[in-house]
Amino acid sequence: MSEGSPKRRFDKLPDTRSVLVVCAHPDDESFGLGAALATFGESGTSTAVLCFTHGEASTLGADSGDLGRVRARELAEAANELGVAYVELLDYRDGHLAQESLDELTAPIRRAVEKAKVDLVLVFDEGGITGHLDHCRATEAGIAAARELDVPVLAWALRERVAEALNAEFSAGFVGRRDEDLDYFVSVERTRQYRAIDRHCSQATDNPVLGRRLELQGDHEVFRWLSPPRESALGR
Ligand SMILES: [Zn+2]
Repeated sequence: MSEGSPKRRFDKLPDTRSVLVVCAHPDDESFGLGAALATFGESGTSTAVLCFTHGEASTLGADSGDLGRVRARELAEAANELGVAYVELLDYRDGHLAQESLDELTAPIRRAVEKAKVDLVLVFDEGGITGHLDHCRATEAGIAAARELDVPVLAWALRERVAEALNAEFSAGFVGRRDEDLDYFVSVERTRQYRAIDRHCSQATDNPVLGRRLELQGDHEVFRWLSPPRESALGR
């Protein structure tokens, strides 16, 4: 953390009633947001996941059969491990989310926000964490829908040094943030996240990048506001 930063930084996730994760693929909610979802759930927050694709275009698990069906089942099981109250799995084409209009993508988010009385939307950071264009588009849609409904948007992020290490080791395109751009440094317990990851058998097997990322992150997760709440709209 930078010294002398005027920014106030929090070590506990915001105190909310109902969180909606907006993501692109089955496994994003666990590989990326699993620790956050478990932490929210354990503090009494109701959690929901809206996932835009069945992840059928993955290069992993191609020998698992009908990958879209396999991954739908994996998502349901992983969500159960994380205590997620409600999952909505949509059927947009995996790998092509960026070509969908924002109007199209925001409609189901708005419906889910209103249905679950959501007071916080949680997304991947801008840049999509891994640079995946589907992740970036899901985040754009989450921001657009939440702004229309005046709901704050929090992004799960990676510290710059974690992203740089992964990029050096795997020639990957991870997008990290400087510590001064982060709003939350939260210590997390990853037991439930690991159980959820194990449910995504088709994607978690032969995935050294995932294991290494979690190792580099250690027992912390970092977050930044993309649309901050109005003053005192959320307890912190
Ligand atoms: Zn993904």
